[in-house]
Formats: sequence, structure tokens, C-alpha cells
Amino acid sequence: ETGIVVVGAGQAGLQAAASLREAGYGGLLTMIGDEPSLPYQRPPLSKAYLAGKVDATGLFLRAPGFYADHGIACETSVEAVAIDRAARRVRLSDGRDLGYDHLVLATGSRNRPLPVPGTELAGVYQLRSIADADRIQAAIGEARSIAIVGAGFIGLEFASICAARGLSVTVIEAADRPMARAVSEPIATFFREVHESAGIRFLFGGGVQAIEGWAGRAASIVLSDGATCPADLVLIGIGVLPNQDLAAEAGLHVEDGIVVDSVLLTDDPSISAIGDCARFPTRFAAHGTARVESVQNAIDHGRCLAARITGRPAPYDAVPWFWSDQGGHKLQMVGLPGPSDVSVRRATAGGFTVFRYRGPHLTGIETVDSAAEHMAARRIIARGLSPTQDEAADPTFDLKALAM
Ligand code: FAD
Repeated sequence: ETGIVVVGAGQAGLQAAASLREAGYGGLLTMIGDEPSLPYQRPPLSKAYLAGKVDATGLFLRAPGFYADHGIACETSVEAVAIDRAARRVRLSDGRDLGYDHLVLATGSRNRPLPVPGTELAGVYQLRSIADADRIQAAIGEARSIAIVGAGFIGLEFASICAARGLSVTVIEAADRPMARAVSEPIATFFREVHESAGIRFLFGGGVQAIEGWAGRAASIVLSDGATCPADLVLIGIGVLPNQDLAAEAGLHVEDGIVVDSVLLTDDPSISAIGDCARFPTRFAAHGTARVESVQNAIDHGRCLAARITGRPAPYDAVPWFWSDQGGHKLQMVGLPGPSDVSVRRATAGGFTVFRYRGPHLTGIETVDSAAEHMAARRIIARGLSPTQDEAADPTFDLKALAM
């Protein structure tokens, strides 16, 4: 008997399996995960987990008993290494070979490597897994000067936790502001000021030439202008790459992600791709397709896939949203605005909101410390509504009424 095999036991793979059972799928269901842990949440790794406010069991997406209770074989510490599409079999690193009726690729993404000398030194880290977070946690106590390469979400969340512990933190960023690819200028400026007032130092507009070491351990960073910055703990946070090699080697179409159609099928009707690894068509992206790295996307992809397989197919059309916690503030974003989209800012009761426009079209809404506005924003973007820029700028304009 064959059934559904899910490769990747992360946020998307777990959601697919859970939603399949919820929707009544009664066949064999196997998840293949190459990490030692049962499926867990990654967002706390750079937030509450790193701050010591939650332990590893608190990260589990489902209690350990869930899998047996729902007839899901969740295999850990084993990798899927090849797909034989003609025979519909997937080869595992322990030598086994699993047949499938349908294969779900939920392989996620991995950290982008920094192509400079010295990244192999002790004290240089990236943050993706529980194992990474544990190694970093063990090293923080000894660190004197922390350098973070890349002012993205993970780098800044890490920076704010280190600063709160009273550590010396420098963030090195090639762009001229933090989170430059992801958020508007007003949001970037706000968070820059928040972090600077917490003592975090930013070096913008330059790259890294090398990490230099002493006795095998990181000691300093050489910047592109030749200046050096002391660093005995280095976190590299320069984005991720989709895990698409398994798909590419099986001849599936990949293009910065495993390319899928509106119902998340690859060019093989027996194989779907979901979560961070999938490039899918979406009306929310300027160029018509997107690859989105977020919990929302992983969950909604998993649900969409389960609905299709259990006989209720519908094109994927969930509104993209994301959050980040930095320096005691909550940033929430809806939509997929481009870096050059216009920003219209207005104050709210607790914080502020930025509306993003491409021409007359509203492409995204970013809020700081305004959960209620964020919830209204999700409905407005989902429905494709575009208040005028004058309306958006007006603090008395009722976003919730528009969202009704
Ligand atoms: P993953 O969760 O990465 O799961 C994929 C799994 O597949 C991994 O365990 C991987 O090891 C495994 N795998 C890959 N290839 C194979 C193979 N061949 N065989 C077997 N297993 C394989 N998102 C938010 O929305 N908000 C946040 O605040 C936020 N914060 C984050 C903080 C950190 C530190 C990180 C790392 C991520 C954060 N994210 C956040 C992103 C979010 O966690 C991801 O978008 C989400 O986990 C994607 O789910 P996924 O299932 O596609 O991939």
C-alpha cells in the first residue's frame, strides 16, 4: 500500500499532514524530516527561546502523542535523497525506498552562506534550527563583542535580545537601512532608532571582506573599506535559499523555488510543493509569482494542499502576513509591497501605520504596535481595496469600517 509522503517535517509539512487527517484523508501518511526533533516552530528561536522564556518542548507544533493518535508516521533524522518519478518512489538516507501516490515537498529553506574567508571559525553562527539556537545560547555568555552580518528580521531580533542582556552589539548591513528589502523607509527608520537607543551600533553601506580569527576562534570582522570591528561572536543573517535540489535533480521546474501552479502542484501531477521552498502564482506580488518565507504561508499552503487532495480543490489565494518582535515593539505586515512602492504614514493610538502604494494600488500595510489595525489591514488587502493616499494619511480615517 502506498499513500502520501511528505518530505520535510517543518511548519508546512506538519500542517499538510494535520489538515489531511482533519479533512478525512484515510490513507497512509508519512513525514520524513532530517532534523532530530519533531516538527517545531522556528519564530521563537530568535525571540522567546533565545531569551530563555520558552524551552524546546514549548516549541513543538503538536504534542508527541499527536502523531500516533492521528496515524501519521513522523520520521526524524532521516533525509529524502532522491525521487524516482517514474516509479513514484522516494529514496531515504538510511537506504529505504518509500512508494507514494502523492509526494509533498515541504523542504523549507536554508541559510544563505556568506562567501568570505573565516566563516568556518569557532564563534561564527547562523540561526535556523533548535541546534543552531542552542549553540548560540551556549556561546552568548562568554561573548564580549557581538557582530551581526545582515540587518534583516532574524539579525535584528537577535541584536535586540543581546542588547537587552547588556552585550556590545554591532550590526553590519550593505544597504543604507535595516530590513531594506522587506519594509518601508519609515518602519526601517523607526526600528533603527529603537535599536540605537538600546545601544546597538549600525554600520551601513559596506560589506564584509573576511572574518579574522585567533587560535581558530573569530576575533574580528574586516569590512569592505578595510576597517575592522572586534567580534568574538558573529551571527550571519543574510537571508535564505530554498531547498530545491531534490526537486531539481528529479527534473522538476525550479526558479528560486520549486515552481507550482495555482493549486500548488509542480509540473508532475503526483508532486506538490509548499511552504518556504515553493514559488507560486499570487495576485499580491508585483511580478505575479512569489516565494514567501513565513509561518502564515506555510500553514495556508498546507491547508490548501489538504483541501485539494481530499476533493475540495481551490486556488491558493491567502493574504500574506508576517510579524517581527524587536526592542519591545511588534511589527506586523500584510501584502507583498515592492521596495520602491510609495509610503504613506499615519499615527495610530498605540503606534503608527504605513500604507504602501504602487500607483493608485494599495500593495501592503505595515503596522507598529497596532494589532487592531493589522487585523483590519488583512481584510483590506485580501479584498483588494485601495483607499486613496489622502484617506490613508488621515488619522481619523476608519480602517476598520473600510474592512467590514
Ligand atoms: P521549515 O520549517 O524550514 O521546514 C522544512 C524542514 O524540512 C526542515 O526541518 C528541513 O531540515 C527539512 N528538510 C529539508 N530537506 C529535506 C530532505 N531532503 N529530507 C528530509 N527533510 C528535509 N516566520 C514568520 O512568519 N514570523 C516570524 O517571526 C519568523 N521568525 C523566524 C525566525 C527564525 C530564527 C527562523 C529561522 C524563521 C522565522 N520565520 C518566521 C520563518 C518561518 O519559520 C518559516 O517560513 C517556516 O518555518 C517555513 O516552514 P516550512 O515548513 O516551509 O520550512
